[in-house]
Amino acid sequence: MGSTGSIGVQTLDVARRHADKLEVVGLAAGRRAEELLSQAREFGVRCLAVGDERLAGEPVIDELRAQARGTGVPPASLAQAVARRAEGSFGLGAEAVAALAQLPEADVVVNALVGAAGLRASYEALAAGKVLALANKESLVVGGDLIMPLAAQADAQRRAAGTAPAHGPAGALMPIDSEHGAIYQCLIGEDAREVARLWVTASGGPFRGRTRAQLESVTAAEALAHPTWNMGAKITIDSSTLMNKGLEVIEAHHLFAMPYDRISVVVQPQSAIHSMVEFTDGSVKAHLGTTDMRIPIQYALSYPERWDAPVAPLDFRMLGGLEFAAPDEDTFRCLALARHAGEAGGTLPCVMNAANEVAVAAFLAGEGTYLGIAECVEAVMEAHKRAGVQRVESLDQLEELDAWARSEARLNLR
Ligand code: MG
Repeated sequence: MGSTGSIGVQTLDVARRHADKLEVVGLAAGRRAEELLSQAREFGVRCLAVGDERLAGEPVIDELRAQARGTGVPPASLAQAVARRAEGSFGLGAEAVAALAQLPEADVVVNALVGAAGLRASYEALAAGKVLALANKESLVVGGDLIMPLAAQADAQRRAAGTAPAHGPAGALMPIDSEHGAIYQCLIGEDAREVARLWVTASGGPFRGRTRAQLESVTAAEALAHPTWNMGAKITIDSSTLMNKGLEVIEAHHLFAMPYDRISVVVQPQSAIHSMVEFTDGSVKAHLGTTDMRIPIQYALSYPERWDAPVAPLDFRMLGGLEFAAPDEDTFRCLALARHAGEAGGTLPCVMNAANEVAVAAFLAGEGTYLGIAECVEAVMEAHKRAGVQRVESLDQLEELDAWARSEARLNLR
């Protein structure tokens, strides 16, 4: 899901390299239908979905339907036509994308959709008993209170069915985020009661060391130049504002059932350390490696095994120094705002995330300023607090609040 984005393309690269172990059976994209079609042709995929309904009527949509029916070649017989139709499917719209998460022949769903739109797909995948390989951190930021109980249920089912590994976590929910993949690996074989702290590392983004005054005139192009990781536009902006790290703190809270006062962020500019776990005896385990998202993606798919690396391993002799610093939360206010939203809990992270998505999209479109992102997020959070933060009850409730927060955010663009 999200196959034409940065994580999606890299996931398909992993599938290409391990074609003996991985078969792609379904693909969904937001709006890059041409790229989806070429992926579907390369991997021979017949279950397809496109999120953006405005593409209805485009010639490429007919080509995708033909790909779903067969090869676009007319069937030789009625029986063949029926067989082809039974195997393939094509859907247009957000519901069609989420429905693909329940595809019977899929064992694993890689959710690399962008933003809160990924929540329903995560929910459907786990509810259908799939392994959820999760790159869409918003699923947990917005709906962690709904997703984690489902994941626990899916883990229990995997244990009962004998499909879970003999040792370690049952693996129904595999994080693809590099920090969480790192923590996941550091925790294997450990007793959760002996974990003292999670250290989530941050590169610090392209504007590390700058003052607020220096950030006033930042352009989208400058913010899109991330120093270490190669990612999509939304997450790259979030990395530069440290909102991404804030979302990751909330994600870690849910994934590892860790209270917020035991999750710390540390800037590690080389991004060689992907995160760390500190134990009660003062020992710290760190996960290191090349900064290439294909490694955490592959681990989420290979767990509990390890497969050959798709990239050159880290050469410590070439690395030089490892630096550490505290994040500057006064300048990069999104981190503090996200932590506050997480600690308050309930529906506040949902509202915060929606406001951030709108503010970032506006900034990318040249309709808002860089510092205005945090101001917009804070204004919408304050409005929600005045109206009353709620307990998370359902997907419908979250989608309704998400829509409210988006319209409120549009009124607060700076
Ligand atoms: Mg990350």
